[in-house]
Amino acid sequence: MRGTFDILVIGLGAAGSSALYHLSKTGKKVGGIDQFMPPHTHGSSHGQSRIIRQAYHEDPRYVPFIKRAYVLWEEIEKNSGKLLFRKTGGLMLGNPNAGVIKGAELSAQMHDIPYAYLSNQEIRTRFPAFKPGNDIVGVLEKNAGILFPEDCIKAYLEVAAANRANILKNEKVLSLNTHTDVVEVTTNQGHYLANKVIVATGAWISAFIPDLNLLTVERQVLYWFKTNNQSLRVDDLPVYIWEYAPGKMFYGFPDLGDGIKVAHHHAGEITSPETLNRHVSPEEIQSMKKVVSDYFNLNVAFNYGTVCMYTNTPDERFIIDYHPQHKNIIIASPCSGHGFKFASVTGKLLSQLALDEKPELDISMFRINRFAK
Ligand SMILES: Cc1cc2nc3c(=O)[nH]c(=O)nc-3n(C[C@H](O)[C@H](O)[C@H](O)COP(=O)(O)OP(=O)(O)OC[C@H]3O[C@@H](n4cnc5c(N)ncnc54)[C@H](O)[C@@H]3O)c2cc1C
Repeated sequence: MRGTFDILVIGLGAAGSSALYHLSKTGKKVGGIDQFMPPHTHGSSHGQSRIIRQAYHEDPRYVPFIKRAYVLWEEIEKNSGKLLFRKTGGLMLGNPNAGVIKGAELSAQMHDIPYAYLSNQEIRTRFPAFKPGNDIVGVLEKNAGILFPEDCIKAYLEVAAANRANILKNEKVLSLNTHTDVVEVTTNQGHYLANKVIVATGAWISAFIPDLNLLTVERQVLYWFKTNNQSLRVDDLPVYIWEYAPGKMFYGFPDLGDGIKVAHHHAGEITSPETLNRHVSPEEIQSMKKVVSDYFNLNVAFNYGTVCMYTNTPDERFIIDYHPQHKNIIIASPCSGHGFKFASVTGKLLSQLALDEKPELDISMFRINRFAK
């Protein structure tokens, strides 16, 4: 036996590193294991930037979570001394009936989130880099911005380690075996016992929770294009999501140094971590270049691309819950392509479940039994 823990976190990406940080403040004997050296480029949390926003067009029920997430991101910024968030504002673009427009307005109005409705002309005047068709309007949210995902994970792990959490890297968990009140965790290096285990293994989660075969892993490509247009720097361009056809979106970021970053939301093939194609093809680059030339007043040159994975639930809501059969295993699948911004609060909620505390927010929308037949 290589070690015993009160709580062991498996997977130290966005959710797991945050959970480990919150647990490390409790005085419990806690540890975290990752198969790679987090932060790394093999899962769902790489690529320099993630959008954070409050006027949640997807569903106003997320807003209390995101408001709490902002507070907890500030906490880890302060505790780590790292810059993790940059406010840029966030612009939702679409026709007046688009889900991103209607939904963002609804969440903003229900939860008193400051925003401005921009007419077509106002978009053109304020953000001349965009080339909106005549039917396009905008919802501009002041408090949206960018999280730096690799730095966030680094911050969580550094502070957790300083709080005496045991962090095991380059160690792959092979199986979990539940006994009456402990879980035996077998890795490629040996065995551990833990009273509670949090499984936050992202795209690899079905390996541990086979019942979760309702999840799908989707390939996602991120593209960076160089431009010499100064108005695309972080102080001048907000993060944005553009719904160009019903339910179809691309999104992007201002230039942080490598060029503007652009990606489609949910346009990738279904895959698995083992079979993921990590090559960005010339056809894919050409196709995204056309999107940029159709929707921006810009000349751009492709800089580079990278491939990442979404782990999707059927309703795109997260799973944050106890395992249906084993109360000492807690499951986290907080992705569906929009989970990073919540990682600060997701980790807190996971830690509360592991400590048998009442979660500070109502997580019923993330319970696994919603999929029960
Ligand atoms: C291209 C892209 C863009 C996105 N954009 C946004 C955005 O703008 N805003 C937003 O809020 N969200 C966004 N998301 C979603 C967000 O990034 C994810 O929800 C989040 O990163 C998922 O974190 P995770 O902890 O679940 O998974 P990961 O960060 O992938 O962590 C899982 C960890 O588990 C480890 N692991 C797996 N199996 C094992 C094992 N057997 N043993 C040990 N360790 C193991 C892995 O190595 C990995 O480190 C985006 C996602 C992608 C892919």
